[in-house]
Amino acid sequence: MKYGRTFNFSAGPAMMPEPVLEEIRDEMMNMGGSGMCVMEMSHRSKVFEDIIHEAEKDLRELMNIPDNYKVLFIQGGGTLQFAMVPMNLMKNGVACYVETGSWSKKAIAEAKKYGEVKVVASSKDKNFCYVPDCSDLDIPDNADYVYICENETINGTTFYNLPDTKGKILVSDQSSMFLSRPCNVSDYGLIWAGVQKNVGPAGLAIVIIREDLIRDDLPTFVPTYLSYKTHADAASLYNTPNCWAIYCCGKVFKYLKKLGGLEAMNQINVDKASVLYDFLDNSKFFKAAVVKEDRSLMNVPFVSPSAEQDAEVVKATKAAGFDNLKGHKSVGGLRASIYNAMPKEGVEALVDFLKKYEAEHC
Ligand SMILES: *Cc1c(COP(=O)(O)O)cnc(C)c1O
Repeated sequence: MKYGRTFNFSAGPAMMPEPVLEEIRDEMMNMGGSGMCVMEMSHRSKVFEDIIHEAEKDLRELMNIPDNYKVLFIQGGGTLQFAMVPMNLMKNGVACYVETGSWSKKAIAEAKKYGEVKVVASSKDKNFCYVPDCSDLDIPDNADYVYICENETINGTTFYNLPDTKGKILVSDQSSMFLSRPCNVSDYGLIWAGVQKNVGPAGLAIVIIREDLIRDDLPTFVPTYLSYKTHADAASLYNTPNCWAIYCCGKVFKYLKKLGGLEAMNQINVDKASVLYDFLDNSKFFKAAVVKEDRSLMNVPFVSPSAEQDAEVVKATKAAGFDNLKGHKSVGGLRASIYNAMPKEGVEALVDFLKKYEAEHC
């Protein structure tokens, strides 16, 4: 690897594409002839206005976002959306949530502060190793929305079929799969993603919301900043935004466009993930934690025969230059996060290492 960089399998913040980091480096002292770094720049300047407009335009192109959806850049990372969603979308005070793991559980706990939460499907019975059937959910007439975490970062599951919401709007947390595959935006009322898994620096969330869901009749307790309308009316420039993160995300959008867009990215991700899953499925030592049909292409949790051996493997991989393979503390085992920016060579090198490890320990 160039610059002595490491294959970083972290679940987030995660690897950035190297050509993007190089471009950012080259523009650090003087962005586009402005004589400034983006960090030093007024968010009302022409240079920054161009940056944010272009970022939105490129994202719209990549995801083919229809005109009746707003794209918002909001601070507070992913976690703030657990509160903003119910604050803004609960009109009747009732929402349906699908419980598929750690991040949907967090969303459920937060939404309960604002209204009634109905858990309409769950995979808790099997430790969240699959995605429950969502083809015939019991959704009450007065439900305001149906919520999913489309890719569970910790548990390693992904929805390959969206729930039948029985006409209610679908809200999706796409944080750990954003821009990893094509997405039909009009299937959703609202999509949101914290960007530090698959796009840019932490601290920013991108929200894609259908215009008619933006309300001006929110209860007065909702802080101005936490109303989607505030951000929509001001084109994400109500206050000083996270200019740096928006700039970096914009670079990644351009990089993805050059690569051929989300179809091409998906093909790369399928190829890359299959290197690891094929190895795990043929191993006598390691085992993938998730059932075949619901496996994430981004986060791959796996285990060795015991917790002690898991810890040994983590230590050995780290010593060999593969970073952050320890599974999340809530589930244990190992986890390889292989987002868009992880090169296939990184996964191949890891598999080679694990193969050798197995031969020596099995
Ligand atoms: C990381 C993550 C979050 C939380 O993001 P923060 O920016 O750390 O608040 C929410 N949902 C999912 C699926 C995530 O992976």
